[in-house]
Amino acid sequence: MAETVTRTISILGATGSIGSSTLDLIRRNRDEWRVVALTANGNAGELARLAREFGAECVVVADETCLPELRELLSGSGIEAAGGAQALCEAASRGAEVTVAAIVGCAGLAPTMAAIEQGRVVALANKEALVSAGDVMTAAVARHGATLLPVDSEHNAIFQCLAGNDPAQVRAITLTASGGPFREWTWERLEQATPAEAVRHPNWDMGAKISVDSATMMNKGLELIEAFHLFPVGLDKLRIVIHPQSVVHSLVEFHDRSTLAQLGPSDMRVPIASILAWPGRMETPCEPLDLAALGSLTFHAPDELRFPATRLAREAAGAGGAAPAVLNAANEVAVAAFLAGQIAFTHIAANVERVLAADLPAAPATLDDVLVIDRDARAVAREILELA
Ligand code: NDP
Repeated sequence: MAETVTRTISILGATGSIGSSTLDLIRRNRDEWRVVALTANGNAGELARLAREFGAECVVVADETCLPELRELLSGSGIEAAGGAQALCEAASRGAEVTVAAIVGCAGLAPTMAAIEQGRVVALANKEALVSAGDVMTAAVARHGATLLPVDSEHNAIFQCLAGNDPAQVRAITLTASGGPFREWTWERLEQATPAEAVRHPNWDMGAKISVDSATMMNKGLELIEAFHLFPVGLDKLRIVIHPQSVVHSLVEFHDRSTLAQLGPSDMRVPIASILAWPGRMETPCEPLDLAALGSLTFHAPDELRFPATRLAREAAGAGGAAPAVLNAANEVAVAAFLAGQIAFTHIAANVERVLAADLPAAPATLDDVLVIDRDARAVAREILELA
């Protein structure tokens, strides 16, 4: 019998939706993985429970005020506990063979960069980090010999379609989008949309921020920029199509007019499994795809009048430099304000556009540059939104 090979893994954002899906797969294959670090923002209770269950070496809460509770919950376990931004980066630097970057927002950028600097495999879910840092991140990947593997279902689909193919032969890459919960809503109805309605995604079970991004279509905009960096075929070759059933996760067309697509259930454990097992395959508990039961798959063009976010993202990617980081920061502030009931749904993209219209800073050359751009753009966004 073949001996089981144990690999080490760290999960940044372990208490979130992607973190839970990843840990569910690890739970089913316990002897294949040793958990090094698990992190959260402030959910000390869940983090401590996971740390004990998986025998993690260390755990970190970004919010230091939650550290005493975390320490208390882990007393006697021998598991190291730490708090704060620096501790997060140190946890990411522990050199696990695989680090899953699943923190939400630009808050995940510094720890993701710390993981990249270890030169191992980084499984990227945290799209905002790549959108904000762009070339700074891809240059670090090359410099440190890291392997950046896409967890995001669309990019994971493209990655699978490109395997064994020459990127120079790509004619177009099409990202599919469910269209979100408001796909068929009129502008008048969108103006009244509530946070509870926005987070109720028809196909995917996700964290609140990405659910709102999905409703505004900014998620697809961020994914367009993510694809621009992961698959450098040129912005003009990147397309978006609405596909409400979320079965075809993306498509790659080659010069000979062959189009390859990846299909699967709308369950993030499928793309996560493909990364955990890469370049092999592993079992998942997901239901098999039953195309006859589905009956039909539909596709149509996006409506950028009702959902301008994809246009803003394409323009930011085209402008390059600081624009994508500004777009992301402005969006994070606006989404948080919407979720807090401070602004209307339709004001999210409108505010992002206003922040992008202000003078843009110089292109970032380092991680610190990106963090300054992110901080300053947040301040401008808050000012425009008249938030404290
Ligand atoms: P969740 O909101 O479910 O989880 C976010 C995780 O990040 C939690 O562990 C949370 O900790 C932690 N976190 C939040 N804020 C901070 C912070 N300031 N510093 C450190 N840690 C923080 O998000 P998702 O799992 O839905 O998404 C994670 C990332 O993956 C996002 O970038 C998203 O776009 C991407 N993604 C998600 C998909 C999905 O299906 N969910 C699909 C594709 C990509 P705590 O629990 O303590 O708050």
